[in-house]
Amino acid sequence: MILNRIVVFAVIAFFIVIAAIYLLFISGKTGQYSDFEDYIFGTYIRIRISSKVNPATISKAIFTEMKRLEKKFDAYSEGSILYNINNSEDWVKVDDETLSIIDLSLRLARNTEGAFDPGIGRLVNLWGFSKFSQKEATSEFTIPSVDKIGEAATQSGYQKIAIDYVNKKVKANGVWIDLGGILKGYALKRAYQIAKELDKSCHGFIEAGGQIMILGPKYNKTNWVIGVRDPRGEPGENIAIVYMSEGSIATSGDYERFFIVDNVRYHHILDPKTGYPARKAISATIISEDPVVADAFSTAAFVLGEDKWLFTRTVFPKYGAEVLLVTPQKKLLRTDKFSIYERADR
Ligand code: AMP
Ligand code: MG
Repeated sequence: MILNRIVVFAVIAFFIVIAAIYLLFISGKTGQYSDFEDYIFGTYIRIRISSKVNPATISKAIFTEMKRLEKKFDAYSEGSILYNINNSEDWVKVDDETLSIIDLSLRLARNTEGAFDPGIGRLVNLWGFSKFSQKEATSEFTIPSVDKIGEAATQSGYQKIAIDYVNKKVKANGVWIDLGGILKGYALKRAYQIAKELDKSCHGFIEAGGQIMILGPKYNKTNWVIGVRDPRGEPGENIAIVYMSEGSIATSGDYERFFIVDNVRYHHILDPKTGYPARKAISATIISEDPVVADAFSTAAFVLGEDKWLFTRTVFPKYGAEVLLVTPQKKLLRTDKFSIYERADR
């Protein structure tokens, strides 16, 4: 009898120990998430991360890197490398990182037939959207005159930007280079690299104003559920839901930076062909492995809009970009593979 009891206790104790080891193993694998936030590029950067390395250390390294990029590539503040290039009539010697990001921006411009155009800084500045800081008060903005827009447009266009690869020099030829359409994507790419260098098995995601870079699946096993904002709804109201465990998703919308005059919305995504805010979409979302592609192509898809949808849906997937476009009438247009990400069971 006593022996039986001992056996029963031993069996129970054995299972308790096994369960405890299993739970420890699971929690070690999945981990808890820590959240960090900072204000960079005129927007909130949020990091949700689980790591065996101190998450605060990883987040600090990411924020430091992003602040470095913000300073270096703000075209409109004196002393930045872009400011120097834009305000020089001559060739400007640049470092490798600057050369490669400008080269990349020109390639993205060619891929999108100039819908994404890093050479529109004068127009962005003229409209008053050159500040990283958010400005939404109507009083701070005015609609530029047709003449001024025409003048800025003639001094715009990525085709004018020249690169000397041998001597590592760039010449803007009167154009102002603006990398605002890819900077957040580039910063997210660097953030991903930094996080993975410090802990290759870390997981979570980083959010930078309208764009998300995933570090790894939720609890290392399931998809993150991501809402695509309804461009005419309140924050938190979604027009679509996607499920992702890797890669990046970026949305460009006319609700991010804008002012309204006589019921017309003037916003920060300009059509390089007209010099005016693009009118043929109200938001464009891109899913891509590469956050730089997601960022540049979201701006481009917005500019191309409903009218050029055939081009977008045919060409963008070739560069690894799947698109969800919201037309001014709030119709949703999708590339073939976008809907795969909308399936909860994927
Ligand atoms: P995003 O929010 O990623 O669509 O980027 C918008 C930012 O990119 C603007 O604030 C401008 O600095 C810049 N931008 C605006 N229009 C264009 C365009 N057509 N091509 C490239 N950059 C643009
Ligand atoms: Mg973009």
